[in-house]
Amino acid sequence: MSTSTFRVLAADKLAQEGLDFITDQSDCELVNKPGLSEEEYATLIQDCDAMIVRSGIKVTAKILENPGKLKVIARAGVGVDNIDLKAATEKGILVVNTAAASTITTAEHAFALMMSLLRNVGPAYKGMTEGKWDRNKFTGRQLHGKSVGVVGFGRIGQTFAERALAFGMDVVAYDPFINAETMLDGRVKMFKNFEDILPHADILSFHVPLNDATRSMLNKETYKLCRDGLYVVNAARGGVVDEADLLEAVESGKVAAAALDVFTSEPPAEDDPLRNHPQILITPHLGASTKEAQQAVSVDAAENCLTYLRGDGIVGAVNAGNLKINLSDLQEKYVDLAGRMAKLISPMITRGISEVSIGLTGKELAAASSMIERTALVGIFENHLTDPVNIINVNQVAEARSIKVTTTLCDDEKVQPGLTFEIKGPQGAVDSETKEGDKVRRITGRVYDDLKPRIVEINGYFMDMIPEGPMVILLNEDRPGMIGLVGTTFGGENVNIADMAISRRDTTAMMVLKVDSEPTEAQLDAIKSKDGILKTAAINLPATNGT
Ligand code: NAD
Repeated sequence: MSTSTFRVLAADKLAQEGLDFITDQSDCELVNKPGLSEEEYATLIQDCDAMIVRSGIKVTAKILENPGKLKVIARAGVGVDNIDLKAATEKGILVVNTAAASTITTAEHAFALMMSLLRNVGPAYKGMTEGKWDRNKFTGRQLHGKSVGVVGFGRIGQTFAERALAFGMDVVAYDPFINAETMLDGRVKMFKNFEDILPHADILSFHVPLNDATRSMLNKETYKLCRDGLYVVNAARGGVVDEADLLEAVESGKVAAAALDVFTSEPPAEDDPLRNHPQILITPHLGASTKEAQQAVSVDAAENCLTYLRGDGIVGAVNAGNLKINLSDLQEKYVDLAGRMAKLISPMITRGISEVSIGLTGKELAAASSMIERTALVGIFENHLTDPVNIINVNQVAEARSIKVTTTLCDDEKVQPGLTFEIKGPQGAVDSETKEGDKVRRITGRVYDDLKPRIVEINGYFMDMIPEGPMVILLNEDRPGMIGLVGTTFGGENVNIADMAISRRDTTAMMVLKVDSEPTEAQLDAIKSKDGILKTAAINLPATNGT
């Protein structure tokens, strides 16, 4: 049993349950000091092992300058914008959050929205408040026996599905980052393509992060594959369900009714047509707002601190992916290269993942192979999951999703160091944009004598390019005029191209552009809409100076 006493500083006002949890621990002393000045915290933390914050305090580099014995900062909640992560990482301080605490609460809200939709609770209530008694108008539909399609089968999606099963519903799901035929003991059939699940659902409920692959995934084209009289629930992120297309689908009767807890712009404008549509039920981003979730975040924050301090592991780490480990210069460069390569290839993974194969050559890199593998996996997954993924938990994340990871090492001294990732999608899944199936995504990189990272191949297109700064990758038909088209279109959009690598294969070409600033969605759309442009992806990588 541990004999040390951990001093835990509550630097924001925490729910009483969290404070009680700390005082109940035999090895903890609570320092409950919300609302102090920057200088006061800078001194106080030196004698504390853990610090728990909400969104009130700004944990600045100045506070962390001499951290004394501070080892962990926990955010009771999700967003860590108020914590200087760079400063914390530099001082070796772990930062954790409590993303899981709102899972049940958000799943319940999505469920409440679904039930309310099918029983017309919103419009019936409104009618009553207007003095009406519309019993015939609001004949509802039963949940029992309906088929609900759960899009995104992570924490919230699965929790929602368990509840739907308990109500006698059929549950089908789509999640390209879970490599399984069925889930929840065979009770949920998994679909490999978004388009394939659509004809099987009376109701669609979205539980995905917002990224390039999920933005507007339910839109006027995909509605065509849906059942007539569909019900739609979005308690994930605004914009996953295209708002303009939803209004049209409701007007045309394709969608019977929809419920939205989240919006592209929050709050939506007062005159936004979504606000006043009889078949659209809206709530002001209430998914995580329950008393229980607020209590849970405080208790989870304290628990996550103690798990780490007691040496029992790391839960909810936000910055562990950046922790420095003793590596040689070359090893460090390859770990950095792995992260850059992963971030470059990640937006191209539009048919999910069943297998990641990492090929590593070079004797000196052997000792860093685990770190290179983990860094690569974090970069590949992080944009697709809202669950925190880091070098500590990423192998378990892959395993839990039945994604096979292999690293093959060739440590023959005569072979030049190099790094390749090959990413396979589940069998039968097709690329959501190009509709191609069974294609392996592949990227190869090297670090040459100048110690700069280079990308030498992406999907069979060969190049020599330093991956840094804002970049745009385009796949286009290989015909005259394409370079001019891209230059003119971006020029017209005020996007300045600083550098360009072009590689040709068969009838297509890949252009990798370095641009002066990260293009906006509208600027990217301008390129996407051009004839002959097949695919676009934008990424922003750190500068390579000093890496
Ligand atoms: P999670 O990471 O556990 O699950 C997200 C799932 O989406 C993952 O399993 C991932 O594989 C899957 N996914 C990624 N890309 C996909 C794609 N293109 N198609 C289908 N599935 C894809 O995250 P979570 O905690 O379950 O959160 C789900 C969503 O709910 C997130 O958008 C989160 O921000 C949102 N959320 C909303 C509220 C609210 O107040 N309304 C509260 C909490 C979370």
